[in-house]
Amino acid sequence: MMPITSLDRFAFEASRSRRSIMIQLSQTAYLIDALKEALHREYPSLSLGEILSHAQGGLSLRCPNCGVLGDQAIPLLYLAGKGALQGAVYGGPNAAALGKGVCPSCGGSTVEATFDPSRIMTRQQAMRASALEAAREPELTSVCSGLGFQASLDVSPDESMVCLVAPEAGGRGTVIAYEAGTANRLWSHPVPSPGSCRCMFVSQERVLILSEKSKGVTEMQLVNAKTGSVVAESQGPSAYFTSGAADTKTGLFVTESSYDTVLTLQTSGDRLELSTYKCGQIYEGPVIGPDGRCYVIVHYHLYRIEDKGMKDIMRGDNCICFDPAGKVYCGGGYFDRSGESMLHIADIQTGSVKEIPYGTDPIDQIALGGPNRLLLANIVDERSAARYPNATVTLFSVPEAKKVWNLEISDLKPWCNPLLLSVPEEGWALIQTGQLLKQISLQDGKTLRVIPNRSQDHVEARWLPSKKLLYVTRNAMGPYRQRGQGTLECYRV
Ligand SMILES: [Zn+2]
Repeated sequence: MMPITSLDRFAFEASRSRRSIMIQLSQTAYLIDALKEALHREYPSLSLGEILSHAQGGLSLRCPNCGVLGDQAIPLLYLAGKGALQGAVYGGPNAAALGKGVCPSCGGSTVEATFDPSRIMTRQQAMRASALEAAREPELTSVCSGLGFQASLDVSPDESMVCLVAPEAGGRGTVIAYEAGTANRLWSHPVPSPGSCRCMFVSQERVLILSEKSKGVTEMQLVNAKTGSVVAESQGPSAYFTSGAADTKTGLFVTESSYDTVLTLQTSGDRLELSTYKCGQIYEGPVIGPDGRCYVIVHYHLYRIEDKGMKDIMRGDNCICFDPAGKVYCGGGYFDRSGESMLHIADIQTGSVKEIPYGTDPIDQIALGGPNRLLLANIVDERSAARYPNATVTLFSVPEAKKVWNLEISDLKPWCNPLLLSVPEEGWALIQTGQLLKQISLQDGKTLRVIPNRSQDHVEARWLPSKKLLYVTRNAMGPYRQRGQGTLECYRV
């Protein structure tokens, strides 16, 4: 066996330039852990998930008799070395041989391991180039900044005010309404905790506030949007405070009550009429369509929840985008590009369905991009970050089924949304890179104006068309993607 100290030294050298070493197959897991250590020390800006992906993705193993072992061998050897394959019944004879530390073809136990850090170094270069670019671009004009923010920014239907949940001293929270584009507080309403609360306009006159009263019990309050005074209140089952949608024309609010249950709340006439619907594991949504109905993705299909049950609209996996003209779009595809990706389109009135093949790149985000055009984006998935390190934003022509332009974003962290919003009426969109929020032209994808970004933040944006105001929220992200305290900023476009 190769002495362990030699593997550690090898990993340290290989993190900087391509190196090869002879090892026992059974030492692969140790070598991957040593590479993780070395890569983490050498490239501290990468997340642990990215490091694992790069440690495995940059490694290749060659049997002296049979040649290079297949791509699946390395993750299997890693699991085997961690004891995770013991007693496993999946995987077949290939996994069984690797689990025993021998080559599945010849039974040999020695391999040549090569580690090539070029992908990780390309990514580091891209991040440096992006930092240089950040210094050159003209910035958007800030009208107010630095307001405390935790979650749940929403805008009144007439765009005269915004509401949000902000942190308070002592771990408590408060719902605050501001006059749009200013730091003028109109009212505030205390809540027990900023992390388990959400606020949303359900009409021009009413804001709905949901907050956790105790485990599994949600307090629902309807407040006067001008004064913050409570006009109705009730209690309901648990609710997800990070999801939810409201239709301010009908007063309907929908959110997840649990992973497989939709909660709907009718608020018109100051009723708080609650119902729940068990729909199966929710992948995306619930959201409200232009027809005022509730839509949700459950197990690779988009459904509309109707009085008689769930209506299967079409296949769809990753996201839901409505067109006011009466169409709904869903993205497909897999993070590891292991199958076909599709843009799924349904006509809400007629029920007709269409699919446009999209290669194997997943479509994780969809926004409207102008007449017959959509903006499509894919995020970086931490599990495949070594092989697919770039996020992309693409302007797509639906009738021609082709890409008009394509932007690769090489410095965005895994799980961050590259597409923040799209304003086709004005011909621009807001995207994020690791260093910048970029206002880009929908015509050609070129940068118009920028706002500095910090790659470790979770960013969301809202656009107030009648005021030409752009709101940006940022939350610091914890190691497990939990959102910490953040700030609210407003820009004039
Ligand atoms: Zn062999």
